[in-house]
Amino acid sequence: MTHQKFQMFIDGNWRDAGDGGRFTSLNPANEEDWAEVPEATVQDVNDAVEAAHRAFTEGPWPRMKPAERGRYLRRIAECVRPLTEELGRLETIDTGKLLRETRWQAGNVANVYDFYSGLADKIHGYVPVSSPDDPFMFTMREPVGVVAGIVPWNSQLQLAAYKIAPALAAGNSIVIKASEHASCALLEFAKVFAEADLPPGVVNIVTGGGVPCGQTLTSHPLVNRITFTGGVDTARKVIPNTASNIARLSLELGGKSPVVVFDDTDLESATNGIVAGIFAASGQSCAAGSRLIVQDGVHDALIERLIEKAESIKIGDPLAEETQMGPLATQGQRDRIETLLEQSIAQGAELLTGGKRPAAFNKGYYFEPTIVRCEHQKLPVVETELFGPVLSVLRFKDEAEAIALANDSDFAFAGGIFSRDIARALRVARRIRSGRLWINTYRVTSAQVPFGGFKRSGYGREAGIDSINDYTELKSVFVETSGEPVADPFVMR
Ligand code: NAD
Repeated sequence: MTHQKFQMFIDGNWRDAGDGGRFTSLNPANEEDWAEVPEATVQDVNDAVEAAHRAFTEGPWPRMKPAERGRYLRRIAECVRPLTEELGRLETIDTGKLLRETRWQAGNVANVYDFYSGLADKIHGYVPVSSPDDPFMFTMREPVGVVAGIVPWNSQLQLAAYKIAPALAAGNSIVIKASEHASCALLEFAKVFAEADLPPGVVNIVTGGGVPCGQTLTSHPLVNRITFTGGVDTARKVIPNTASNIARLSLELGGKSPVVVFDDTDLESATNGIVAGIFAASGQSCAAGSRLIVQDGVHDALIERLIEKAESIKIGDPLAEETQMGPLATQGQRDRIETLLEQSIAQGAELLTGGKRPAAFNKGYYFEPTIVRCEHQKLPVVETELFGPVLSVLRFKDEAEAIALANDSDFAFAGGIFSRDIARALRVARRIRSGRLWINTYRVTSAQVPFGGFKRSGYGREAGIDSINDYTELKSVFVETSGEPVADPFVMR
């Protein structure tokens, strides 16, 4: 494939970095340098934020009728639909994620814009009940202003859509920082904003690493709201930045999600659900079901099936339709997984299958689907988010023990419950502390339903109706209707 060059999208224009700086993007399937991306300078980020600020304070976007903004979003959705194959391919080459999945996600980007286009004119304040003698009181929702969005490398088109679409629908402008590991599909996608005739500066995409690009963006004094998706350690660097600009922050962070399987489960279905949770996307998902918790009676049979399934997974070129698992996104990610796995085995974890680079590939960051049995939770492979295809297995005797094990984690992003007894599954779902739970399935998603975590998995929610309010300020107004002049200034009423 020919080497490609991408540019940033700032104030409606395509730009290189001010100092000409660039970084290369490697294809994780073959380790080839296939694209160049601008490394934004501090001035480039400042330009993007100032463009967004101008679009918000002087441009037509926040003053437009809400239904008109909705029509723009609908147009964006229509422009994306014919591009899903192309955008999916770019994201696959950049990240190693399966084309089957990136193509679907690019299509889902259109669904997200459609969903928020319909909400643009359905944002409401309220009028509280009052006495006829009270002042007239009401609330109204207004856009927050300039939004800064930081996205991780995985599912970047889709995750960016969950930030851009509600922010725009509510009348804000936005600057998105793409991940340095996967900027290309998002930069290509930005052409859609030009095609949809979005006013300049309403959406800006900058590229670069955490420092200076992400740090400059999140600490910028003109930024009013930050929506961050990434790892918890990075979030800890972003949080202090808001001490200067007092920007409102939401955090979508990592997970170590439990999948609880009871004795009465349909084993075939549970096996497929567990595999979807941990081996699809090579386990590189915030919602990965990486902690399997199995009841004694079904433990051996389930593990046998899982090993068989894991060993039959077709690993290979993520662009090929028959491939079931592609490479990991970066070499650093594979090195980290190998280290944590090694430490866990040294501390007593038992390797049941996988645990190494597949022999068939001498290029690409491939890693085998891996299952490890663990006697207790205090092992790196159970406590740490590996962000890879590694499933830890623990067993339990009764419901109370299952709930205790499921909740014994710093993270609380998602989780799964498999049981034919729906009353029990619902009872357990109510007691697992987590932002999202699946019962007898895993990884199903919809633009209509929010996602986000408890505990170290972050705060705030994306997707769904409520997310749009997170991009608004609530203003309250009192109007004197008595017709009387203000009387005694020292008496409150
Ligand atoms: P990461 O934390 O390394 O990077 C995320 C983003 O933060 C990148 O764009 C990076 O450049 C930026 N960044 C780094 N330092 C920064 C700084 N000082 N200031 C501002 N920005 C900075 O994460 P990653 O490896 O790209 O992605 C994997 C992580 O993301 C996992 O923990 C995963 O669980 C999480 N994730 C969460 C969700 C969710 O919805 N909760 C979704 C996808 C991924």
